[in-house]
Amino acid sequence: MQSPVKPTFQFINSIMEYDPEVASIIKAENQRQHAKIRLVPSENYASRAVLEATGSIMTNKYSEGYARDRYYEGQQQIDKLEMLCVERAKTVFGADHVNVQPYSGSPANQAVYLALAEPGETIMGLSLADGGHLTHGDKVSISGKHYNSIQYGVRESDGSIDYDQVESLAKKFKPKIIFCGTTAYPRFVDFEKFAAIGKEVGAVVVADIAHISGLVAAGVHPSPIPHVDVVTTTTHKSLRGPRGGMIMCKHQFADVLDKAVFPGLQGGPHNHTTAGLAVALKEAQTEEFKKYARQIVTNADVLAKSLIKRGFSLSSGGTDNHLILIDLTNKGVTGRQMAKALDASGIVCNFNRIPFDKRPAMNPSGIRIGTPAITSRGFGINEMERLANWMETVAQLRSDESLNLSDRKMAYKNVAKEVKDLCDQFPAPGLCYDSDC
Ligand SMILES: *Cc1c(COP(=O)(O)O)cnc(C)c1O
Repeated sequence: MQSPVKPTFQFINSIMEYDPEVASIIKAENQRQHAKIRLVPSENYASRAVLEATGSIMTNKYSEGYARDRYYEGQQQIDKLEMLCVERAKTVFGADHVNVQPYSGSPANQAVYLALAEPGETIMGLSLADGGHLTHGDKVSISGKHYNSIQYGVRESDGSIDYDQVESLAKKFKPKIIFCGTTAYPRFVDFEKFAAIGKEVGAVVVADIAHISGLVAAGVHPSPIPHVDVVTTTTHKSLRGPRGGMIMCKHQFADVLDKAVFPGLQGGPHNHTTAGLAVALKEAQTEEFKKYARQIVTNADVLAKSLIKRGFSLSSGGTDNHLILIDLTNKGVTGRQMAKALDASGIVCNFNRIPFDKRPAMNPSGIRIGTPAITSRGFGINEMERLANWMETVAQLRSDESLNLSDRKMAYKNVAKEVKDLCDQFPAPGLCYDSDC
């Protein structure tokens, strides 16, 4: 057993000196990220090297344009950095062309729309309710407001994307763009099938691998790169980089997509993010990262099976990737109740609709959990068993009508203490501890 670690706060001494108000917030967040089991599947722990690059003086430079073709002077180092980052992304993903400037995943998708469809034209994507992202044509998003959005879904029988429906809708509505890729979907996406459908109807197929890009980089999820025209991703989820976005594409789309990012949508790139991303892409090429990605999937699979053993009902019956969607209906709690009870118990996730949910989005039937962050701090299959146990305990506590509020709160606190004892054995990458600050 490793000796327990105490989070400390020396690496932001200068903030502490100048702005204790902000410093104390960061310090408390450092403590929270250490002491809780973080199951939000889109979150992670970036390494100290990624954090340092992201927090560096690269934030001081304006560099509108692309390497060797900028609108400001003084780009000697920025050009080098951006080219290095692009080359590393090409190596990791095998892409023809990469743009590392999108500020995040949503702007990356927005740039794709800007490049490939006129307002009012038809686009297609997986509905939010079935695990798609807002930016895939949801009516509250600009993608659903400015374009004629057709949404496909998953099958009720097995929770899998309804590829027959995708094909028939695509044939009927002839979209300019078909988005595939997910934000709350526990199964592999068949990118080859999407590519074939796109070809059949003359649509550009865009794979949004925001959640799974770390898994794709490591080869534990099939890659869309050989099949589809355009791939977008965030850089801060399973890829474990800084917050940012990336667009990868075939040569023929390079020019129009680059122009859509700049000057179409954005101004100067966030060079400090590019620096952090370049570091993350170096990390992603290591054997260690491949092992990490495999362990994410193993942990998710073990956790899914442990939960099923304890009577939890999982959307699609399990998982192929890093993510698990739990339908809590049979446990007598709602997603919101469970998410809040878990948080009080030191386990952080988000409430989420499950496909065909009869409950509203603000208090749906399910929760969404994932293993990228806990795997980064070294949790393995033994910890998955303990986690499933705690989740069962919390569901029982929350649904037990005989408990009064203060007894329940006390019981959550006891779980949170056990959780923290476990977390003390697993210092997380990037966080500040006595030993290394
Ligand atoms: C997270 C996510 C995004 C959006 O990324 P932001 O960086 O939050 O803008 C886009 N698409 C998918 C599929 C996502 O999961």
